[in-house]
Amino acid sequence: MICIPIVATNLDDAVKDMAEASRFADIVELRIDYLKQPDLKSLLERRTKPVIVTNRPVREGGKFEGREEDRLSLLRLAIQLQADYVDVEHDSIQRLRGNAAINTTGNKTKLIVSYHHFNETPGNLSETYQKLSKSGADIIKIVTFANTIIDNITIYRLLQQAKMPLISFCMGEYGAISRILYKKFGSCLTFASLQKGKESAPGQVNIHELLNVYRVRSQDKQTAIYGLIGNPVSHSIGPYIHNVLFKELGLNAVYVPFKVDKVEPFIKEFKALDTRGYSVTIPYKESVIGCLDETDPMVKKIGAANTVVNKDGRLMGYNTDCEAAMKTLECAIEGASRGSSQLKTATTNSALLKGKTATILGAGGAARAIAFGLKHRGAIVTILNRNYERAQLLAGDVGCLSGRLEDFQADRTDIIINATPVGMYPAVDATPIDKNKLKPGMAVFDTIYNPLETRLMREAREQGCTVVGGLPMFARQAAEQFQLWTGRTPSLESIEKIACERLANTQSRNDNHLPIKKS
Ligand code: NAP
Repeated sequence: MICIPIVATNLDDAVKDMAEASRFADIVELRIDYLKQPDLKSLLERRTKPVIVTNRPVREGGKFEGREEDRLSLLRLAIQLQADYVDVEHDSIQRLRGNAAINTTGNKTKLIVSYHHFNETPGNLSETYQKLSKSGADIIKIVTFANTIIDNITIYRLLQQAKMPLISFCMGEYGAISRILYKKFGSCLTFASLQKGKESAPGQVNIHELLNVYRVRSQDKQTAIYGLIGNPVSHSIGPYIHNVLFKELGLNAVYVPFKVDKVEPFIKEFKALDTRGYSVTIPYKESVIGCLDETDPMVKKIGAANTVVNKDGRLMGYNTDCEAAMKTLECAIEGASRGSSQLKTATTNSALLKGKTATILGAGGAARAIAFGLKHRGAIVTILNRNYERAQLLAGDVGCLSGRLEDFQADRTDIIINATPVGMYPAVDATPIDKNKLKPGMAVFDTIYNPLETRLMREAREQGCTVVGGLPMFARQAAEQFQLWTGRTPSLESIEKIACERLANTQSRNDNHLPIKKS
C-alpha cells in the first residue's frame, strides 16, 4: 500500500491535498502536527480513503511543540472520531493506553506503534521489533536513517524475520531504494510525497515517480531488481530508460539508482536481495572487477566493466561502452560516405577504422574503452590529456601515442573523440578544441550526450566535419546491457527517444533558456 502524508499547515490546503492524494494513494496520513489548528472532525468527515492520524512531536522529527498531554489528547480524539489508524510513538503508547477512555477494544481504529531513528540504522532492530510487538500494536513501524546503502539490507533482514505487519524502510538519500522496493523488502506500506517539496521525511520519493518511473503498483516479491552502481547517481537517466524498456517488453523488473560508497561490501551484501544485474558508472568501473566471479575478455583487456550480470548466482562483468562507441563511430563514418546522416544499423563495417588516425581527448574511463576499441580495430591512436602522466599511463596500457591537450595536430588526425566532460551541461559554452583546428572531412565524435549538440559538434559541423554526439553511444551501451540482462533486444530509437524526452524535461526544469537540439 502507498501512503501520502499531508503536510499542509492550514485546513483548506489540507483538505485540497487530501483530495488530491486520495487519487493516487491507498492511505492518506494526516500529519496534524503540521496544522496550526487541527480540525480533526472536519478532516475525517471529508476523507475518501483510509486515514492515519499522526501527531509527531519535535523529539521524533515532527512539528508538535506543545505539552505531551495535549498531543496525546488529539490522538485520543482521533480514536473517538474513528480514524482508520493512529500512529503513536513507541515511548507514548503506555500513556495513551493508560487512559481507559481510549481503549481501542471495539473501536475500529488500528494502532501503529512507531520507532524512528533520525541519525542511523542501529544494529539491534530485532530487539526493538520484539519490544514493539508486545506493545499492543496492530502494526509496527520501524524507520531509521541510512548513512550507507548497506543500511537498507539491515532493514531488509528485519522485514524478512517479522511475523507481525511491519512498516519499515530507511530515510535519507541512501535509503530511497527501500521505499521504492518496499514490496520486495516486505514492508506493508511505503510513503510517497504528493509532490516535490511536500515531503514529510528525508528521501521520500514523489508519488508520480514512484508510480510512473518505478511502477510500484506492478512490483511484487518476484520483481527482478537491476540498478546503477555509482556515486553520484542522482543525475542518471538510466532509471528512465531501463524502466520504460521493462514496461514496453512486459518484464516484471525494476531498475533503481544505488548510491554506493564502497563497492565491495555493496556487492557482497546485496546478494541477499538477489539483484539480477547492474550498470556501473564513475568511480567503480575498474574497482568492481575485483568483486566479480568472472569477466569477459574485453573487460580483462580494457580493465573496466560497465555491466554486471547475475548468472545463477555468479556475477559476470562486461564492457558495453567499447563496442557502443566503435559502432557509433562506424555508423557516422559510413553514413557520411553514403551521403546520409549517421546510419542506425546493428552491425557495422569494423574495417572502416583500420589505418585511420584517431586523437582521443581525455584519459579517463570512457577514453580507456574507446582507445582499446580503436586499437583493436587497427586505428593509429593518440591520447591527449590535461594530466599528461595519466595520458602516458593509458597510452602505455593500450600501446599508442600520448601528449598534452595543447599538442593536438589537425593534419595528423582523421578522427577526434572528446572523452572529457568539457562542453557538458551546464557549462555548454566550453569546447575542448579551437574551431580553427577542425578541418573538413574530419570525423568528430563528442561522447557527451547532455546537451545533445555540444559547442564542439556545432562548430565541427560548420567546418564541414562528420559529426556524431554521445547519445547513440549511450543508447547502444544501454541496449547491449539490457540484452545481456534479459536476452531481449530493445530498439535504439526507443532508447534515444526516451533519453531525449528525459534530458529536455530535466533541462527545462533547471534552465529553460537552454536550447536542446537533436543531432
Ligand atoms: P573520467 O573517468 O572522470 O575522466 C574524465 C577525463 O576528462 C579525464 O581524462 C580528465 O582529465 C578529463 N577532464 C575533466 N575535466 C576536464 C577539463 N576541465 N579540461 C580538460 N580535461 C578534463 O570520466 P569518463 O567516464 O571517462 O567520462 C568522460 C566523458 O565521457 C564525460 O563527458 C561523459 O559524459 C562521457 N561518457 C559518455 C558515455 C556515453 O555513453 N555517451 C559513456 C561514458 C562516458 P584529467 O585526467 O586531467 O583529470
